[in-house]
Amino acid sequence: MGKITGFLELERVDRDYLPVEERLKNYNEFVIPLGDKGTRDQAARCMDCGVPYCHNGCPVNNQIPDWNDLVYKGEWLKALKNLHSTNNFPEFTGRICPAPCEASCTLNIPDTPVNIKSIECAIVDKGWEEGWITPQVNPDKTGKRVAVIGSGPAGMACAQQLARAGHDVHLYEKNLKVGGLMRYGIPDFKMEKRHIDRRVAQMQAEGVTVHAGVHVGYDVAIADLVEQYDAVALAGGAEKPRDLPIPGRELDGIHFAMEFLPQQNRRVSDEPFNARPILATGKHVVVIGGGDTGSDCIGTSNRHGAASVTQIEIMPMPPEKENKALVWPNWPLKLRTSSSHEEGVSRDFAVATIAFEGKDGKVTALNCARADEKFQPIPGTEFQLKADLVLLAMGFVGPVQDGMVKAAGVDLDRRGNVLADMVRYKTSKEKIFSCGDMRRGQSLVVWAIREGRQCARSIDEWLMGKTDLPR
Ligand SMILES: Cc1cc2nc3c(=O)[nH]c(=O)nc-3n(C[C@H](O)[C@H](O)[C@H](O)COP(=O)(O)OP(=O)(O)OC[C@H]3O[C@@H](n4cnc5c(N)ncnc54)[C@H](O)[C@@H]3O)c2cc1C
Ligand code: SF4
Repeated sequence: MGKITGFLELERVDRDYLPVEERLKNYNEFVIPLGDKGTRDQAARCMDCGVPYCHNGCPVNNQIPDWNDLVYKGEWLKALKNLHSTNNFPEFTGRICPAPCEASCTLNIPDTPVNIKSIECAIVDKGWEEGWITPQVNPDKTGKRVAVIGSGPAGMACAQQLARAGHDVHLYEKNLKVGGLMRYGIPDFKMEKRHIDRRVAQMQAEGVTVHAGVHVGYDVAIADLVEQYDAVALAGGAEKPRDLPIPGRELDGIHFAMEFLPQQNRRVSDEPFNARPILATGKHVVVIGGGDTGSDCIGTSNRHGAASVTQIEIMPMPPEKENKALVWPNWPLKLRTSSSHEEGVSRDFAVATIAFEGKDGKVTALNCARADEKFQPIPGTEFQLKADLVLLAMGFVGPVQDGMVKAAGVDLDRRGNVLADMVRYKTSKEKIFSCGDMRRGQSLVVWAIREGRQCARSIDEWLMGKTDLPR
């Protein structure tokens, strides 16, 4: 283990942020790294628990105590190798993962978990700085061809693992650039897109061919891909947003979060788009929905220069602190304040939206009421919120079925996701596999990476009769 008495001597210190007024001026990342010494001190706090709950809490089962120890000893390259043995893209998770590992850490019982996410990020950032991360080209080709459809974290991880197993991998993506929701949903201030570009270059050097701007099911038939390739992985995400079909929904100025956020990401990267610009500048913005997507809408609206930003959530306000005895080491339901919340927002909970009001076809207000425990409006509690822009961030109901999924003819589960088990990732159709949000429903980047890796292993085993890819 690291320093035997580290957890007694050293305080938890997390990465700091640039001041709000500074970071609101642009879309750059604003997290200040801990530096080598700071990271080493944090790694020294790890107790190398007999049962490392962090390792189970992490969906990719990162070997956290092992690399904490290596960082403490200054063995950064070994730590990087260990980290890459379970996670293809630690610089993504080191930036945008909610870190279920830290919730599971034994030191979270007294609210001072090891800073696992910051240490992970420091290891991989150093790996890139030092030039240690290079393409891992497999010279032994299998002669098998695999198509991976969808280039989010699931498709990227699946394609990279399959190329490293020696297969000829073709990654199809309907958008112009690779990355899925990490590219077009998650704002640059949470993760700059250069991190994705660097990995795409690495994957291409390893033999992955990218077919960007190709919408499978429209530009090319899924039946043709099934015919041409030895195996096909469906990793198209869960892109169908939850709507709010109440009176006034047709008014101008009411948009899904995923109409608003991708425009800004494209502006930042100078990628042209055809749609009418949706801007929060000078507007009273109301964000409906309290999750990550809602937070991203708040951060983006404040950078646009909104007149005010309000976020409403139909669920009651969760407790500020969880009951550790009841929930640890599981992920707790508690009030979370994101860096975007800190930048300025008025938050309200247990609010039901009854109708949108408008003038001349444009939204001007929301008619709301307090919501009861069945999420119904409580009579007599009605109130109005002024709004020129309403962003719907109430989650996603599942994969888009029209086009590729319907044409593939694969069975779906009760929620409308592509049905495939969590061991073999095989669908009801011969040769077709599925992973990530398309299989499990809207989730997290870290789960998508896990599923992509495991799906690749299953495809490799199915094609070759055996596999050396890690479980
Ligand atoms: C705004 C927002 C913020 C989020 N923030 C976080 C966060 O901070 N941390 C976190 O862990 N998770 C976050 N998530 C969730 C996370 O982004 C997803 O769980 C993750 O990206 C899922 O990965 P995936 O590869 O399964 O699917 P996706 O990332 O959705 O990628 C699917 C890809 O498939 C492509 N595709 C679909 N159909 C076709 C087709 N027929 N032909 C060709 N291409 C196709 C799509 O264009 C897309 O690029 C966020 C989600 C959103 C919407
Ligand atoms: S649970 Fe926390 S203290 Fe224990 S091994 Fe994992 S990171 Fe270290």
